[in-house]
Amino acid sequence: MENLKTLVLLQRLDQQLDELTILRGDLPEQIEDLEAELEGIRTSLTSADKFLKDADFQIDTLRIEIDAAREKTAKYKAQQFEVRNNREYDALTKEIDSIGRQIEEMEKKIEQIRNHKEESSKVSHVADPKIAHLEQELADRRAQLEDITRDTLDEERILLSDRKKLIEKTEKKMIDQYERIRSARDGKVVVKINRGACGGCFKVIPLQRQAEIKKSNKIFHCEHCGRFLISETLYDSFINGTPAK
Ligand SMILES: [Zn+2]
Repeated sequence: MENLKTLVLLQRLDQQLDELTILRGDLPEQIEDLEAELEGIRTSLTSADKFLKDADFQIDTLRIEIDAAREKTAKYKAQQFEVRNNREYDALTKEIDSIGRQIEEMEKKIEQIRNHKEESSKVSHVADPKIAHLEQELADRRAQLEDITRDTLDEERILLSDRKKLIEKTEKKMIDQYERIRSARDGKVVVKINRGACGGCFKVIPLQRQAEIKKSNKIFHCEHCGRFLISETLYDSFINGTPAK
C-alpha cells in the first residue's frame, strides 16, 4: 500500500519532469550540433591560416634553391667547353641531368604549394562569415533555452530532490519494476481502472478481478500490459493526500 502510493507519487513527479523536458524541445541537441559545427570550422580555419602563413616562405626558399641550381648548371655547361676528354664531359652531363631533375621536383613542389594555398584561401575566405553566422545562431538558441529554463530551474530542482527522497524510501525491487514498465510503456506505470478497463492499454479487466482490486490494497498488474492497476478511489486519495506543489 505504502509502496503503491510511492509509485503513484513518483509517476506524478516523472510526468512533471517530462513536461519540463518537452518545454526545452530539441534545443539542447541543436546547441550541441552548432557547437560541434563551429569547432570543426575553427579547426580547419586554424590549419588553413597556419599553412598560408608558411606557404610564401616555403616558395621563396624553393625559388632561391632553384636559382642556385640553375647557376650551377650554367657553370657546368661552360666547363663542358673546356674539358680535356669524353670522360670529364660525360661526368658533367650526368651532373647537369641530375640537377635538372632536382629543379623539376622543386618546381612541382611550388605548384603543389600554390594549389594548396588557393584552397586554404578559400577556406579562410568562407570561414569568417560562416563562423559569425553560426555564433549568432548559437547565441539565439542559448538565449531561448535560458528563457525556458530560467523559469523552470527551481521547479526542476525541487522535483528531482523529491524524486530522490521517494526512491530512497522505497524497495529497490519496486523501483526497478517501475523503471522497467516506465521505459517500456511510454511513462504510464500505475493506471486507474477506467470503466472496467485498464487505464493504460484499455483491455477489459474481468469483473472478479475488478472487485478484488477495488477492495484490496494489494498490488495487481494488468494481464495485458503489465502496468500496476489501482482503483480510481485509491488513486485519487493518494494524489489528493499530497500537499499541492
Ligand atoms: Zn493494461
